Amino acid sequence: SAVRSFKLVGSNAVQFSRFYAASVPTTKMFINNEFVESKTQKWIDLHNPATNEVVTRVPESTQAEMESAVAAAKEAFPAWSNTTVLTRQQIMFKLQDLIKKNMDRLAANITQEQGKTLVDAVGDVTRGLQVVEHCCSIPSLQLGETIAGISKDMDTFTFRLPLGVVAGITPFNFPAMIPLWMFPMAAVCGNTSILKPSERDPGATMILMELCKEAGMPPGVVNVIHGAHDSVNFICDAPDIQAISFVGSDQAGQYIYERGSKNGKRVQSNMGAKNHGVIMPDANKESTLTSLVGAAFGAAGQRCMALSTAIFVGEAREWIPELVEKARKLKVNAGHEPDADLGPLISPAAKDRVCSLIQSGVDQGAKMLLDGRGIAVKGYEKGNFVGPTILHQVDPSMRCYQEEIFGPVLVSMEAETLDDAIKIVKSNPYGNGTAIFTTNGATARKYTMECDVGQVGVNVPIPVPLPMFSFTGSRGSFRGDQNFYGKQGIQFYTQIRTVTQQWKEEDAVSSRPATNMPV
Ligand code: NAD
Repeated sequence: SAVRSFKLVGSNAVQFSRFYAASVPTTKMFINNEFVESKTQKWIDLHNPATNEVVTRVPESTQAEMESAVAAAKEAFPAWSNTTVLTRQQIMFKLQDLIKKNMDRLAANITQEQGKTLVDAVGDVTRGLQVVEHCCSIPSLQLGETIAGISKDMDTFTFRLPLGVVAGITPFNFPAMIPLWMFPMAAVCGNTSILKPSERDPGATMILMELCKEAGMPPGVVNVIHGAHDSVNFICDAPDIQAISFVGSDQAGQYIYERGSKNGKRVQSNMGAKNHGVIMPDANKESTLTSLVGAAFGAAGQRCMALSTAIFVGEAREWIPELVEKARKLKVNAGHEPDADLGPLISPAAKDRVCSLIQSGVDQGAKMLLDGRGIAVKGYEKGNFVGPTILHQVDPSMRCYQEEIFGPVLVSMEAETLDDAIKIVKSNPYGNGTAIFTTNGATARKYTMECDVGQVGVNVPIPVPLPMFSFTGSRGSFRGDQNFYGKQGIQFYTQIRTVTQQWKEEDAVSSRPATNMPV
C-alpha cells in the first residue's frame, strides 16, 4: 500500500518500478509440468482483500506463452489418452490424498488472496476434493453401452473417448473448488487441458498444480496460463482447443459461450444468480432463520448459491425482527481471525458496487433494516469490508432485486400465499438455486415441481449437489447442454464412438483352452 501511495516521475519512476518488480513475488505459469516465469510486460497486482497490501503480481501471459501451453497439451494428448483408465484412476487416488494433506496450506492461500474465512476456505477445497474423489470411480463412470445381437452375429457398443485439448476459465469466488470441477474430470477422461484461473486469486490453482505433478500427472496434461480478456479471447479462438468450461459472471459467460461456440467448440457456461428462499409460516423458525443468515451472509455473500432474496409468506413476516438480530450478531473480520463469520469483499471496486446497490434500494423505497456500510474492522481499516445488510419491502422493479449484488446483502420481500411466492421466483430470469422452508411435504413438493430453477433445497439453504449428481443451474444461470461434474461432466468431456461389429458364427475356430486365471 505504501508503494501505491507514491507518485514518481522520470528516471526515479523507472528505478522505483524496477525495485518494486523485484520486491513483490510473482505468480508463475505451469507449462509442461514446470513453473515458468512470464516474460510479459503486463502484470496485475493482487491485493489481500483484508488489508489491500499487494500479495503477488499475476502476469498476463504473452501470446507465445499461451501458444506454448496449448502446444504442450496437444503433444501430451496422444500418450495421455492412451494410458489405461486404471493408470488415470491411480493418479486421482494420489491427488485426492495430496489435497487432503495440503488442506491447511490451500485454505491459508485462499484466505490471503480471496478473503473468505479459513473455515469457509476449507469448505471451498473440500467441495473440490469431493470431485477428485468421484473421479476415482472413472472405470465405472466412463462405461459405454452395448447391445448384443442387433442383427445376425452382430453387436453394437459405444466407447466414451476424450475430446483432446480442453480449457477452463474460472471465477474468483471459489479458487479451489471450481478449478477442481474442471481439470481433474477432463484429465481422468483422457483429455489434456489449459486452465486460466481468476487473475484475482490464482494461488490455490498453483498449489494444485504442484500436487498434480507430485501425484504423477505427466508433463503437458494440465497447464496454467494467466491473464484477463486477452487470455480468454485466446482460449475462445485457439483452433486446437476443443471445449471450454466457464464459470463466472453473465457478461463474460455469454460472451465466451458465443465466441467459443462460433469457433466450433463445445462450451458449458455457469453464470450469475439471484437465489430465493421462501419461508412458510409452518417452518421450523429457529433452524430456518439460522439457515437464512448463514446462506445470505456466509462468504460475504460472494457465492453463486448464496440465498440473497428472502420471501416471507403470510405470518412468517413476523420473524423478520429476529432475523435482523441474528444477522447483527455476525462478526465481520479478516478471514484468518478465529472469530470471523464473514470476511471482506474481493476488491474496493466490489465494495463500491455493493454499497451503491444498497443505496439504490434505499432510493427506490426499500426499508433499511440493517445497514452494514461504513463498518470499521479494527486492525484492518483498509480492508474491503461490508457488514450484513437487510433491505425489506423490496419490489421486483428495484435495481437491488434485478441485479446480482454478490455481497452480504439480503433482499427481503413479502407474499400473501405460496402461489404468490412461486410467481415471483418464476418471473426472475435466473435459475441457479432456490430453497423452501416448511414442515409440510405437500407444500415442498408443489414448490419443487412448479419453480423453474435448476437446484432446489427443501429446508436446505444451499443445495449444491455432491459430485455423483451434477451442478444443474438452469435458465439465465447456464448456457450449454451438459452441466458441470457428475454424469453430465463425464459426458461433457467425452465424445461417443459407436461400433457395430459382425463376427460370423461360421468363421469361429476352436483354439486350445487357456487354463490360467485371466488377468
Ligand atoms: P468474472 O466473470 O468477472 O470472471 C470470471 C472469469 O472470466 C475470470 O477468469 C476473468 O478473467 C474472465 N473475465 C471477466 N470478465 C470478462 C470479460 N468481460 N470477457 C472475457 N472474460 C472475462 O466473474 P467473477 O467476478 O470472478 O465471479 C463472480 C461471478 O461468478 C458471479 O456472477 C457468480 O454468480 C458467478 N459464479 C457462478 C457460479 C455458478 O456455478 N453458476 C459459481 C461461482 C461463481
